[in-house]
Amino acid sequence: MQHTEQLYIDGRWTPSSGDHFLDVISASTEQVIARVPAATPEDVDAAVQAARRAFGGWAAMPTARRAELLHRLHRGLAARADEIARTITGEIGMPLKLSQRIQAGLPIKVMDSFARLVTQLPLEEKVANSLVVREPVGVVGCITPWNYPLHQIVAKVGAALAAGCTVVLKPTEVAPLSAYILAEIIDQSELPPGVFNLVVGTGPVAGEALASHPEVDMITFTGSTRAGKRVSELAAATVKRVALELGGKSAAVVLDDADLAQAVKSTVSNCFLNSGQTCAAHTRLLVPAERYAEAAQLAVSAAKTFTVGDPFSDTAKLGPLTSAIQRERVRNYIRKGLEEGAELLLGGAEPPEGLAKGYYVRPTVFGRVDPKMTIAQEEIFGPVLCLIAYRDEADAIRIANGTPYGLAGGVWGSPERALRVARRLRAGSIDVNGGSFNPEAPFGGYKQSGHGREYGKWGLEEFLEVKAIQF
Ligand code: NAD
Repeated sequence: MQHTEQLYIDGRWTPSSGDHFLDVISASTEQVIARVPAATPEDVDAAVQAARRAFGGWAAMPTARRAELLHRLHRGLAARADEIARTITGEIGMPLKLSQRIQAGLPIKVMDSFARLVTQLPLEEKVANSLVVREPVGVVGCITPWNYPLHQIVAKVGAALAAGCTVVLKPTEVAPLSAYILAEIIDQSELPPGVFNLVVGTGPVAGEALASHPEVDMITFTGSTRAGKRVSELAAATVKRVALELGGKSAAVVLDDADLAQAVKSTVSNCFLNSGQTCAAHTRLLVPAERYAEAAQLAVSAAKTFTVGDPFSDTAKLGPLTSAIQRERVRNYIRKGLEEGAELLLGGAEPPEGLAKGYYVRPTVFGRVDPKMTIAQEEIFGPVLCLIAYRDEADAIRIANGTPYGLAGGVWGSPERALRVARRLRAGSIDVNGGSFNPEAPFGGYKQSGHGREYGKWGLEEFLEVKAIQF
């Protein structure tokens, strides 16, 4: 990557109008691995104006031609898959093998799916004397987080471009390098100037400038609930459409007729994926009270297999957390769990042995967690699992639904019962008996996990306006 000290605006690599830079730090070595600009409100304005100028032409381009250009982006990403995986492992610390499959593999698949789906989406419909047409919403501001950096970007940018919108991307300043890879691929493609623009900077400066810019028609945001609320407030002043993908505190409900060993093992893996820094992670394991002791033992054995270490090695199953701030936040939650009386079954707040550098945290399992405790209510975003015992199915559903969040969840048990419980969970995405992530199914939150859906045709529809024309 040659351009990481610049921004990409109106089809050109451009220096920032300011003179501040931000360091990108490796999660495992704590070394500075790159320097990126801290974009100013003037930079954001230049990017938004370029996107506005490009909008008419891009929106009017035949869908098949836009799809063809997106297929090229897909091929460009696929050609750089290994570099993407290594870059993201360097920034955030996910073990390389997982990064190859998830951090690189998923966004590549998702870009391909938008290029295909957009040509299949019906854009016109007759209703009595009306012709109902769907049109791109306009200039879209995309603000994304660090935990699955390119995946979150493609979910927004890929869908918005496919739908005929032009884009200003403000990726996370913590792990922005895969956004540069995408920008380089776009620069070498035939996308007209201004259709895609990249401004890298902090949330309070560049993010807020984008969310409040009057020429932005829609903001799509993924990140913390705190920042999502702020973005909504700013966007309200000019009545922008807002899509929010926020935090979660998802429950895996294990019914009494489930294969307990399989359910516990899979939930531990799900919870610890990306060192627990996954918004949809199943972080609360709800088990029938009469099987609690067995479940606790199984959870500890499964968690012990998560060897902590260098994410570039072949042996590590758990890399470091992304940043020093994140590590401190997670340790504080572990201390809070102890203070509030949860039983520490494995791990703890002390750093793991033998790892002098890197933001590592021990895989941690809490037992006898009361559903009202802080660790059972708030998103920890670290490798910390909470075991909660329930009395009966109604109690399990009440506990599962008993947080301000509603992003995801899991149910384990005989298929018919599990489906019945899945229907009663107030969350946007439920896996039954370990059903795997489907990049063409809608993903998003109920309650304070946000609104709007990403991926598949639902992800494309987010970026379309509906117009009724009467005859
Ligand atoms: P964050 O909210 O701090 O940052 C996310 C993005 O928002 C970054 O680009 C940041 O620069 C920007 N930002 C921060 N403050 C802003 C402001 N005032 N105005 C505008 N933009 C602002 O979150 P993070 O620490 O990067 O990510 C972790 C959080 O994101 C977790 O809470 C996690 O659950 C959530 N998350 C949710 C999903 C989902 O799909 N629901 C996916 C990934 C992460």
